[in-house]
Parts: sequence; C-alpha cells; structure tokens
Amino acid sequence: MSSPTRSQNGEFSVAVVGGGLVGSLAAVYFASRGWTVTVYELREDIRTVKQSSGRSINLALSARGIAGLEGAGVGKGLLDTLIPMKARMIHVGNSQSSQNYGYFNEAINSVDRKLVNQHLLNMAETHKNVSFKFQYEVLSIDFDKKVLNFKKPDGTVVKATADLIVGTDGAFSRVRRELMRVTRMNFMQEYIEHAYVELNMPPVTLFMPWSNFEAIKSPTDLMLFFEQKFPDTIPLIGKELLVKDYFKNPKGSLISIKCKPYHYKSSCVILGDAAHAMVPFYGQGMNCGFEDCLVLDEIFDRVLGKRGSAGSARPSAEKVAKALEEYSELRNPDAEAICDLALNNYVEMRSSVTKLFLAPLVPKTVI
Ligand code: FAD
Repeated sequence: MSSPTRSQNGEFSVAVVGGGLVGSLAAVYFASRGWTVTVYELREDIRTVKQSSGRSINLALSARGIAGLEGAGVGKGLLDTLIPMKARMIHVGNSQSSQNYGYFNEAINSVDRKLVNQHLLNMAETHKNVSFKFQYEVLSIDFDKKVLNFKKPDGTVVKATADLIVGTDGAFSRVRRELMRVTRMNFMQEYIEHAYVELNMPPVTLFMPWSNFEAIKSPTDLMLFFEQKFPDTIPLIGKELLVKDYFKNPKGSLISIKCKPYHYKSSCVILGDAAHAMVPFYGQGMNCGFEDCLVLDEIFDRVLGKRGSAGSARPSAEKVAKALEEYSELRNPDAEAICDLALNNYVEMRSSVTKLFLAPLVPKTVI
C-alpha cells in the first residue's frame, strides 16, 4: 500500500521524519515555502496523550533557539510563557548557594517541553499544506528513488515518496543510519558515565553516574543517599513522591554524537539531535536544532530564492543538492563546537561549580 506525497500536481513535497521539537518547527519553515509537507511521527500525537515520556520536563530556551522560532514567525503564544532563570542553586550536603549565570543580570529561559512541542505542531497545522501521520515508524529509505518504508502499529508496512526527506528523528536516528549506507559519513558517538531521572519537586532532574543508580536498589538506599547528599530537597519533593518517581521513571543515558555530512544529494538532510545530539549540560540541544532550521532556511533563501518566490516553491533537484551541500559544510563546525562546549560544561556542572562554594566537599552529582 502506498501513501504518495511526491508532487503529483507539480508541488514540491517534503517528508519530515520525526515530529518532535525540531521536526515540527522544520515543518513550519518548509510549509511557508509553499512545499507540501508530511510529518511522520513514531509516537501518538503528543497533543492528545495524557502522559508524555519521562524525558526532561523543562528546557532552557536561549537566544539561539528564540531566533529559530522567530524566523518562522512562531514565537507568539510561546515566548510569553517563558520563566527567566538568572541563577542556579548549588546543593552541597545541607548547604545551598545561588550562582548567577551572568554579571549583568542575564537570564536563560525555562519552558515546558510538551508545551513547545504542542505549540509547534499547532503552528504547523495552521498551514493547509502540512499533514501528520502519527504512529508511523520509518524502517528504511531508498534515497535515490526517494521512497520511505514505514511500519504502522498493526504491523503493516506502507510506502511514501517525497522530493526531500528530512530526518529529525532524534539521537538514535534511523534516517541517519540509512544515510550512512549511501554517504561516506564520519560518525562519532560517546556515552558519558552519567544518566538522568526526572523527579517532581516541581520538576527536578537528577544527574549522576550509572554506578550510583545501580547502587540504589531499595527505598531505604534512596533515602540514605538523599539524606546524605541533598537533605534540603526531601521536604520539597516529599518522601513518597521521591521514592515513586525514582523507581518508576525511566533512567536516560546521555550521549554526544557528531557526524558529517548531514545530507545526500538533493534527497535528504538531517537536523537536530539526528545530526548532533549533545549532553544536556549546556542547555543547547533544542536551541541548536531550532537554529539548524533557521540556517537551512537562510541557505534556501539564497540558493533557491526567497520564501514566496516561484523558484523557491518549485526548486530544481540541482539547486536543492547545492543548498544541502552548503548546509552540511556551513553547519558542521558550529554544531560540533556546541557538542564540545556541552561536554566541557558537563565537567563544570558535575563538580567545578561546587569548588566556588565549598572546596573540601565535592559531590559528583548535580540536581
Ligand atoms: P527529539 O526531541 O528526540 O524528537 C525526535 C522525534 O522523532 C520524536 O518525536 C520521536 O518519537 C521521533 N522518532 C524517533 N524515531 C523515529 C522513527 N524511526 N520514525 C518516526 N519518528 C521517529 N536542550 C535545550 O536546548 N535546552 C535544555 O535545557 C535541554 N535540556 C535537556 C535535558 C535532558 C535531560 C535531555 C535528555 C535533553 C535536553 N535538551 C535540552 C536537548 C533536547 O531535548 C534535544 O536537543 C531536543 O529534544 C532535540 O529535538 P529533536 O526534535 O531533534 O529530537
């Protein structure tokens, strides 16, 4: 069975694989060029499910990410929900200290992950030329024929075609894996020793080495650990909820991924975590993914013609290939630099921050 998306009536079609944070923003950018966009998402529609996955609840949105949102004209309705964060709280045993993020009252903004995703899906939906296929898992792709195979929940496999395939399917991207078959892609991934779990305080994420997670086997172990390391958080979270969340919520590994190129001919490009997953300690993964969309859009403007122009609405394969090649070249050094900065900040957040505070007591755990 086939669900054709390729330009049957001369329109340029895009298959966005992954309707997460970056895929839903990318859909808006592509739709505003007049392209026919179909977003294929593995999960159910996040707007209708009660509980989303145990992934971090709040995200830091920076100027980089805001520029990406504003470039697509989708800031309104989201930017007014931001909560500025001017400082971080360092916990060492029973003591706490607040460290400002900047000397001049600068702040980074806290935003709800689910809200961002919902907002961007809603924004994409306002374009008549965007449609969604939820619970579609991409299995394989023939980039030369521009054909994608998807599995649906009932096990059936369906095909789709598109002029351009955009992989925004996250750190463990299937699109990237398929790209590796057809490009001479350099690829590097590194797991760090820390993992994370969400605890509700309201939302707190606990980061600590896998070995610590593995050592905590019972509620008694957990309470001993918290009494020793973070006693001040126990009344804020509540003992019962702490135990419930700790043992119920998934423990997530943290990975850093670099690869290049990000594209194949005129057929495919990967954006967001699919291209450059990074550890979360710099709060820049989503921001960098949003900026990817903006950078690609600027290159499309230059190579294909401005949004709204006839050239941009129906670009030739040669021009799309040129734009994607330029994107890979331009974006890769910046994306890798942010991955490196994030890894450096892992060391900072894990222990250096406490050296400013209480030199002799340095826990390797961050809340
Ligand atoms: P994802 O959000 O992973 O979305 C990928 C989508 O693709 C998902 O919806 C998934 O269901 C779908 N998908 C996967 N496989 C398939 C398939 N085979 N077929 C179809 N669909 C598929 N970033 C920040 O900027 N600020 C922060 O403060 C911040 N904090 C973080 C805290 C933690 C603990 C973690 C783990 C990450 C944090 N990040 C932060 C990073 C941020 O979460 C990611 O960079 C961002 O989610 C990347 O968006 P994405 O759309 O590229 O990928």
